Amino acid sequence: MTEKIFYHEMSWPEIKSAIEKGKIPILPVGSVEQHGPHLPLITDAFTAFSICVRAAEISGDLLVMPPIYYGYSTHHMDFPGTISIKTLNFMGYIYDVCRSLVHHGFRKIIIFNGHGGNVAPLQIVARRISEETDSLCALISWWNLAREEISKLRESEFPGGMAHSCELETSVMLSLKPEYVRMEKAVKDIGFPKSNFIWLDIMGQSPVYLVEGFSRFSRTGIVGDPTLATAEKGEKILSVVVQNLVRFVAEFKAREVWPRVNHH
Ligand SMILES: [Zn+2]
Repeated sequence: MTEKIFYHEMSWPEIKSAIEKGKIPILPVGSVEQHGPHLPLITDAFTAFSICVRAAEISGDLLVMPPIYYGYSTHHMDFPGTISIKTLNFMGYIYDVCRSLVHHGFRKIIIFNGHGGNVAPLQIVARRISEETDSLCALISWWNLAREEISKLRESEFPGGMAHSCELETSVMLSLKPEYVRMEKAVKDIGFPKSNFIWLDIMGQSPVYLVEGFSRFSRTGIVGDPTLATAEKGEKILSVVVQNLVRFVAEFKAREVWPRVNHH
């Protein structure tokens, strides 16, 4: 019998034995937010969850948790459909999920993020879990696992071509679930003010951090060039992301945790 990969499909004795085996729970976190006229609101949560499932099918050490669908999306609120959770509520909720895992004895936890806006609050949560408990909590945003591959395949301009509902996200979605994508509605939209210091691009942060409501500079909700997206690019990127996630899980599982030393 193949081992179960979904946390929520297990019974408590199965969870107990998974903890004893050192399995690692992975919590997909996404958003429900506008993704332009060509992608659905669920894009980020769906992408993060799908990658976790693929990796768990290969790894044998992962337990995929029920995803957190809602995220921190204030900058998309001018577009209908977006749901945004206030930072403290969002952080508190994810913290409580992770803290419950710690309580049961999981010593290594992964938060797997699919939405740029979640990064800052999730970093704080992951850090708090690692600092305040005996467990380690790693945070991964999926695109960071395939930076080289993405740069190789990228055709859109930098900065701006890969920011939101862009060449990258649309390619990945075309590969994962083409029926979710309306390519005939995809348009290039890189409308933020030209600057040497402030821009939006998932592959390289600008030296100055500034977040504004996307409606100030995007009429479509897109920031990037989804017209360059293809399923082939998406599949290549996804396979590298999944491979690297599986490799990281093996490394993380084996990672030694040395005791802290109080030098006072
Ligand atoms: Zn997205």
